[in-house]
This record gives sequence, C-alpha cells and structure tokens, in this order.
Amino acid sequence: MKTYYEILGFSSEDHKTITLDEIKKAYRAALLSNHPDKSRNGKLSVDDIQAAYAILSNQHKRSAYDQALQGSNYQIYSKQEHSEVYDLDDLEYDEKLNEWFMGCRCGNKKGFTVNESILEDNIDIGEILIQCLDCSNWIKVQFQENDHAHLE
Ligand SMILES: [Zn+2]
Repeated sequence: MKTYYEILGFSSEDHKTITLDEIKKAYRAALLSNHPDKSRNGKLSVDDIQAAYAILSNQHKRSAYDQALQGSNYQIYSKQEHSEVYDLDDLEYDEKLNEWFMGCRCGNKKGFTVNESILEDNIDIGEILIQCLDCSNWIKVQFQENDHAHLE
C-alpha cells in the first residue's frame, strides 16, 4: 500500500520538509496524470489522490497521519472506500463562514465541512472526499460548477 506522500509523487524520506504549496502542486499534477479522461494508463484512482490531498493539505490531519505512518498504522486511512455519497445540496450552508457542513454519526454536528477553495481545487472531478474532524468517517460530496457560481 502506498503512503499518501507516495500517491502524490513524493519519495518517502523527505516528507517532513514538504510545504503546503508543494502538496497542492503535486496534487494537481497527480490528478492530471491520472485523470480518467486525460490518460488511459492512469494507475492511481482519483479517490486515492483526493484522500491523500484531503489529509496532507490539512495541518492537523497531516501531523496525525505522520504519526500514524511512523507507527506503520496507516491502513485505517483506507476507510474512505466505504464513504457515503452526498450531493452538495444535501449539506447545510453557513453564509457567515461561507462553507458547507454536515453532521456526523459521531455527534459532531459540523463534522464534515467544505469550503469554496476546496471545491475549486476539485472542480475538474466534481466530487470531494471529506473526513470527519473528530472521527474516521468519510463522506463523498458531489457537486457541479454552477452549484457555487453565485458566490463568485
Ligand atoms: Zn465523526
């Protein structure tokens, strides 16, 4: 099983020094080279790449993941394969924070949150994987470009 760093194309030794910018660039490059419409030999699934980015682009989740990696215990992160699928319309919208949210079974009423910049990062795919802030549940949210066009 590849680590999230490997999924985004980083070698396993140097991940401590990788910046968020580098993660964003690697994410876009990984999506491009594995996009089902643009490459017939894409080896990684878009879900894997998104899951990697969802963790590594979030400082809190990334450090938890780094700790899990050190304990070679990162298989727990493959749970997103069983995520439930929702539409962006199914989530509630918070006008003040300009973000969408949904409650999680663990009791966190805003366990799943997504903001506009995350949507924009994933506009090509039209879906995004989100992990609960408090537990290991994942949901997949599908959206279309015009869902948030009124905000721009
Ligand atoms: Zn939860």
